[in-house]
Amino acid sequence: RQVNRFIKALVLGLAWGVAALAQPVAAQGKGTIGIAMPTKSSSRWISDGESMVRFFKERGYDTDLQYAEDDIPNQLAQVENMITKGVKVLVIAAIDGTTLSNALQKAADKGIKVVAYDRLIRGSKHVDYYTTFDNFQVGVLQANSIVEKLGLKEGKGPFNIELFGGSPDDNNAYFFYDGAMSVLKPYIDSGKLVVRSKQMGMDKVGTLRWDGSVAQARMDNLLSAYYGKARLDAVLSPYDGLSIGIISSLRGVGYGSPEQPMPVITGQDAEIPSVKAIVRGDQTSTVFKDTRELAKVTVDLVEAVLAGRQPAINDTKTYHNGVKVVPSILLKPVAVDASNWKEVLVSSGYYKEGQIK
Ligand code: BGC
Repeated sequence: RQVNRFIKALVLGLAWGVAALAQPVAAQGKGTIGIAMPTKSSSRWISDGESMVRFFKERGYDTDLQYAEDDIPNQLAQVENMITKGVKVLVIAAIDGTTLSNALQKAADKGIKVVAYDRLIRGSKHVDYYTTFDNFQVGVLQANSIVEKLGLKEGKGPFNIELFGGSPDDNNAYFFYDGAMSVLKPYIDSGKLVVRSKQMGMDKVGTLRWDGSVAQARMDNLLSAYYGKARLDAVLSPYDGLSIGIISSLRGVGYGSPEQPMPVITGQDAEIPSVKAIVRGDQTSTVFKDTRELAKVTVDLVEAVLAGRQPAINDTKTYHNGVKVVPSILLKPVAVDASNWKEVLVSSGYYKEGQIK
């Protein structure tokens, strides 16, 4: 009889477990969080969105996640719609960091808190918090990879380099560029690095909307105008999507063979095509920013704010948005190259090895 009772309990327990698993995570009516992301054309934003939705759900919130396909009016309409619907908090990765001021005024009027996600929103006092990575450090890591690979510290050189910047309407682009130049500028000044095109500064090297085909076209022009017989040794690229365009351009004029290897090429985001290019030897490095972590600290911050608790800010001086310093949480970016991609990207569960190889 005892055995019977045991079996009954076991069956009941199993049935309960299965039923519990089959239940979708039910939101406990804590309200809706509006999440405005720039585009699905880069995989990082997809993963940012998915992680946030998952974490918010686990904490009992509903979410309204929207992608604007890099169209500014589209993103503005999405944000305004969220405000009308009465979301509790807005989490926004802006396409253009300066075009949301009116909408944010409306949000403030309704008591909706605003978190700038990854990219700072400029020109509005109604940006309550900012969660991102140490963007200056991203540029430093990119430049370090060039310095190391070329052997500049060992006195080698001179080498030819060309510089690419991110989208001029994205505040991050300036931080990436400035971080990189903090390392590269002394070598340029001493003549160990030569920018044959002389194109320097974000106004000359920016790439609108982070568009890979724009970078590819610019690389085509640079190669034909300045590199007839000369070899290009390094390219500072701030984002993997640009690096892939740059690599195509270089391949078009014969780089990427044993006689004429690719220049040193940097990147950011550890997107799969670029990690594959690193494994192949076409791209030198990328910078990994764990979007799961950024999503997690953002969800923690939103919870704290809604509960009237002080969020775990770790920077209160770096990000002035033109009106005020926005209290920020900065996470650490990680340099990735052929020597550590498996450990950083696969062991951490960010990718499966089969996605790369
Ligand atoms: C992000 C980068 C990304 C770039 C292009 C930047 O604001 O910080 O991670 O590579 O936008 O999407």
